Amino acid sequence: MSLLAKFERYPLTYGPTPIEHLPRLTEALGGNVQIYAKRDDCNSGLAMGGNKLRKLEYIVPDAIASGADTLVSIGGVQSNHTRMVAATAAKIGMKCVVVQEKWVPHYDAVYDRVGNILMTRLMGADSRLVEDGFDIGIRQSWENAIQSVRDAGGVPYAIPAGASVHKYGALGYIGFAEEVAEQEKALGFTFDYIVVCVVTGSTQAGMIVGFAAQDRAQTVIGIDASGTLDQTRAQVRQIVDNSAELVGLGRKVREDEIVINPDYAYPAYGVPSEETNDAIRLAARTEAMITDPVYEGKSMQGMIDLTRKGFFPDGSKVLYVHLGGAPAINGYSYYYKEG
Ligand SMILES: *Cc1c(COP(=O)(O)O)cnc(C)c1O
Repeated sequence: MSLLAKFERYPLTYGPTPIEHLPRLTEALGGNVQIYAKRDDCNSGLAMGGNKLRKLEYIVPDAIASGADTLVSIGGVQSNHTRMVAATAAKIGMKCVVVQEKWVPHYDAVYDRVGNILMTRLMGADSRLVEDGFDIGIRQSWENAIQSVRDAGGVPYAIPAGASVHKYGALGYIGFAEEVAEQEKALGFTFDYIVVCVVTGSTQAGMIVGFAAQDRAQTVIGIDASGTLDQTRAQVRQIVDNSAELVGLGRKVREDEIVINPDYAYPAYGVPSEETNDAIRLAARTEAMITDPVYEGKSMQGMIDLTRKGFFPDGSKVLYVHLGGAPAINGYSYYYKEG
């Protein structure tokens, strides 16, 4: 039975996302490891979708029940998460306030005009730019925004960065693990490894809890894109423990079931390395699969490098989880002016 049977879900996505084989990328990486993608980037018609919607489906019922009229959240200037919160607010008929911090030392001329923030504004959210730097924790600017809604007579519903340290933030990706198991039955094989980007933590944490119920959480390879490994790992651990308890996993998740690789986050959160950009180009040129310089480009780089290094034994089937994020690429046009 599903670990999520007792939780309410408000549909924001189309349902199960496709799994597809990536034959040209597989070939480009030597052909000994079969590469597949799970397309959570194509999960919804709401403002281009992405992983945050899978999380928000389990948060919206609580927001509605609370009597709130305004969703309040936080992220960087090109935050996918704040775009998804703005989309959710528009869709359920609430107001939205999002704080956008200067998380990224990046100075493209239109960085604060295009992509995610453009769509966020278009959907009617009150987007507030502030100067604070990168931090995945609870932020004063977010507390201030929540208070400002109260001061104006509104009823705020607070959603933390990445919807991660929210009580229900990991439920969506627990469901993801169950969804993959169902799809594997239809495919007739199981994946040996699952590669996923990690920053605020609830995506991987949910997967870890969900796959722990299938006894294979250690096959989930988190590729850190935060550059603050200790804080991200501690946050994943905490979300895993809270969520395992919440859904009644029935045991404690071991340390060796939490796998996070820090090798691809350089030079900084939100800044791609040359190797990240090469990975983005390779996925685009072999599979027309667009990954972004903040998140998915780094997990793509990690998957490519680990494959080339022989980390995955020959014959392995690897599932790359595409979490979305392509809109941010518009804020990085200078890197790609020659392709
Ligand atoms: C938020 C996000 C991530 C990271 O997920 P977390 O749950 O914050 O660890 C990865 N990729 C994309 C596109 C995202 O928007």
